[in-house]
Amino acid sequence: MDKIQMKTPLVEMDGDEMTRVLWKMIKDDLILPFIDLKSEYYDLGLESRDKTDDKVTIDSAKAAMKYGVAVKCATITPNAARVKEYNLKKMYKSPNGTIRAMLDGTVFRAPILVKGIEPNVRTWKKPITIARHAYGDVYKATEMKVSGPGKAELVFTSEDGIETRQTIFDFDCPGVIQGQYNIEPSIRSFAKSCFTYALEKGEDLWFATKDTISKSYDHTFKDIFQEEYDNVYKDAFEKKGITYFYTLIDDAVARVMKSEGGFIWACKNYDGDVMSDMLSSAFGSLAMMTSVLVSPHGYFEYEAAHGTVQRHYYKYLKGEKTSTNSVATIFAWTGALRKRGELDNIPALQSFADALEKAVIDTIESGKMTGDLARITTIADPTVLDSEGFILAVRDTLEKESF
Ligand code: NAP
Ligand code: MG
Repeated sequence: MDKIQMKTPLVEMDGDEMTRVLWKMIKDDLILPFIDLKSEYYDLGLESRDKTDDKVTIDSAKAAMKYGVAVKCATITPNAARVKEYNLKKMYKSPNGTIRAMLDGTVFRAPILVKGIEPNVRTWKKPITIARHAYGDVYKATEMKVSGPGKAELVFTSEDGIETRQTIFDFDCPGVIQGQYNIEPSIRSFAKSCFTYALEKGEDLWFATKDTISKSYDHTFKDIFQEEYDNVYKDAFEKKGITYFYTLIDDAVARVMKSEGGFIWACKNYDGDVMSDMLSSAFGSLAMMTSVLVSPHGYFEYEAAHGTVQRHYYKYLKGEKTSTNSVATIFAWTGALRKRGELDNIPALQSFADALEKAVIDTIESGKMTGDLARITTIADPTVLDSEGFILAVRDTLEKESF
């Protein structure tokens, strides 16, 4: 069989620990035998970040902006223990944070559904994708404890010195105060990313805030989404036959639990943080969750939603067998290859991505899976495979399929 040819390179961001081990297996067993892979490789492994003073992370983000599509392996975000373990020059920032700040995007997380790993919510038949605004609000809030009676005020001083002042509360006892903010450009780019992604997926977009209570703050989010919809995306939505639906956050939560899925749920930062963990657990497993960063400028970065699976890596280093689930990382590759195929008009690349995803799902549905899934599956007597065994089983299934 001739290998599939590519036109534009994929930006390949390698990472750390167990996922770095899986990365190589996936490339060797599932990608390189079928595709004449064109990639621009960046090693975001912690040692390489340290060697380059983290310049490699910035270079990889620039490459993503040049070529438009990147696939990223999970990476360590160093803490004090990692600084010691890797003898680092400093405690580098999270690569995802650095990349996100440069590409200016929204993170979309969607579960991969297979028969035999059943959602805890009976009505969910299709994936629900969470789009989390990852800027500001409570994550950048300023907080204060007040020790006793006094007046708390909100003061804004404009550049030309004019003060606007509002009383927050007249305290007659100890208490707490919090000040949070967001900025219009970030809210607008969040809205644009969500509308663009919904169009691309052909799925309805839901957005919810607490605008009835938060009449200026949350209402601004609601207004910006509505403006963008009316001025830019309405026609395209109607043409695609999809809808934009705004409701209150509590109404949205109630509706989500009764829905059958198949839509994108845009969430403010805190709601997205909380709801994405609820969704991923209810759908089965973090190892079955895809994640893509979509920037309003049209850049895409695909990755797995989980981390580097450190505990398994230490077992691997001791020469023990691991049963680490590679599904989300495989789907990061297929997502990126499919997008590259779309942008460069290479149907064979898109079909390959579809076939590889189908092979993964068929393999699991035939009862062959890693330990994490075997623990929760409804399939009787599943075959538990080790990390490489599962990838080879997928290869086997793939070779029997046509694409
Ligand atoms: P983690 O790598 O997500 O793993 C936490 C636990 O979840 C594992 O110990 C394992 O449970 C289970 N798990 C996660 N992924 C799995 C998979 N693919 N297959 C099987 N089991 C899986 O989180 P962590 O151990 O807290 O973090 C490790 C490192 O990852 C940290 O240094 C952190 O900075 C980094 N991180 C990176 C990203 C990213 O790059 N996007 C995201 C999150 C964390 P059992 O041990 O019970 O089997
Ligand atoms: Mg969280």
